[in-house]
Amino acid sequence: MRNVGRPQRIDTDRIFKLRENGLTTTAIANEIGCTQGYVSRVLTSGGVNTGKDGGANSAARNNANTVVDHIINNGGKLREALQQLGLDVAACTVRSVAKDRGIDLVLYRHIGLEKGHWRVNRPYERRGTSGAASLVPVQCQQCKHEGSITWQQLSNRRAPACENCGAHC
Ligand SMILES: [Zn+2]
Repeated sequence: MRNVGRPQRIDTDRIFKLRENGLTTTAIANEIGCTQGYVSRVLTSGGVNTGKDGGANSAARNNANTVVDHIINNGGKLREALQQLGLDVAACTVRSVAKDRGIDLVLYRHIGLEKGHWRVNRPYERRGTSGAASLVPVQCQQCKHEGSITWQQLSNRRAPACENCGAHC
């Protein structure tokens, strides 16, 4: 009896050609008459990134979102977050997902950094200046006042006093 619903042999070259023409894995699956998961596996094994499609890669995108959330809340570098969380997702997928969400992960790197009574609690905003003179958003842990200090001040032995409660440690 003939196998119903799936061709005996699938033309994998055609899958790559359709992908080059810009079809999604779902559209290719409909065209060829096989499952989207199969298309995704063929493309992935051939070194083609199918991350944008969701589908078989939605697990990776979910993992990527978890990594992005982790960095937003805890700061740190992407590589460190990936090691710490141990999720099956590539760094490039995390960057792509972050970009889709309008997030520049680099600006969140210092979240959670503490200096005396100050704690970095918001993404760093790049405003033309760079290096020691650029401002870092910080919050006073004593009175919750939100302020900004420069990188230079953040790396000094004693950070500047809180202008609201006077904490200076
Ligand atoms: Zn304060």
